[in-house]
Amino acid sequence: MGRLVALASCLLVAAADLGAAATPDIFLGDSLRQLGLAPAARVAGDPPAAERHAAKGLPTFVAEANKDYLLVEGVKVYLDDPIGQLRGKLTVTRIDYDKVIVPLAWRLPAARPGSQRILLDPGHGGKDPGKVHATLNYTEKAATLDTAVRLKLLLEKRGFEVLLTRDKDVAIDLDDRAPMATKAKADLFVSLHYNGGAAGDTTSAGIETYCLTPTGQHSTNKAAGRADLTAEPGNRFDLFNLQLAFNVQRQLLAQTGAEDRGIRRARFAVLRTLTCPGILIEGGFVSSRVEGAQIANAAYRQKLAQAIADGIADYARLLRAK
Ligand SMILES: [Zn+2]
Repeated sequence: MGRLVALASCLLVAAADLGAAATPDIFLGDSLRQLGLAPAARVAGDPPAAERHAAKGLPTFVAEANKDYLLVEGVKVYLDDPIGQLRGKLTVTRIDYDKVIVPLAWRLPAARPGSQRILLDPGHGGKDPGKVHATLNYTEKAATLDTAVRLKLLLEKRGFEVLLTRDKDVAIDLDDRAPMATKAKADLFVSLHYNGGAAGDTTSAGIETYCLTPTGQHSTNKAAGRADLTAEPGNRFDLFNLQLAFNVQRQLLAQTGAEDRGIRRARFAVLRTLTCPGILIEGGFVSSRVEGAQIANAAYRQKLAQAIADGIADYARLLRAK
């Protein structure tokens, strides 16, 4: 924000030009117009200072000054930097434009990965139970495996080929999971987890989906530090990782009504060394008294599996589109 204030206004006009890569911030509306979206009338429920940008056949973007996320088709997508405001118009940083807005506006390169063979990764297992519901004693490792088995069947019905990193209650090192995708020649990797709050927290709830932090961005929970400039193997798929995360998170929210904890970025071991697009889903808080009891219910896990299958199918359809 301080950078913007310091700039002369002529520079800021240049900043709005997409050719000016060296300048820090660009106008959101101008950048979205270049991607085919136009300013749209606010709808009931939009915050007073929000901007809405829409176009037929493209996702709708809603942004609000000072927020560290965009709403894309109503799904919270965390940005690297909060949305700024200049002369009454909203601004975003160049890195957020490149790494968040462009892929979500469905500008995917012509050369695209496949989606036919999917490796599902039920988190935890064996001596590692993951998070636990305190009174039901229901474990994350049981929930992830059961969800993966349900999801496998649903995806196979749709014609996908599906493999699991584990199909029983065994421990697998975090570092061994991503290489299994390479070995299996998987086109997609989906790691399944359930969340847990701090000790004694039985109320935190909601679903979040992670992709590998793109090169040059911050992990969502480490916004204060320096951006991570390391390029991991998984960063070859930054645009696809985000698009996959978006499609899955959107279906999860639509089909469960769970709280939206957003699409987040992290340098998780299971995502860093992937040689195909991948995401990690936190399908709700198993530690929550209410949401954890839902997760312990087979019908709810079936609903989650259905939503993830639909999200993956949406992503696969997008890859096949022009
Ligand atoms: Zn976990």
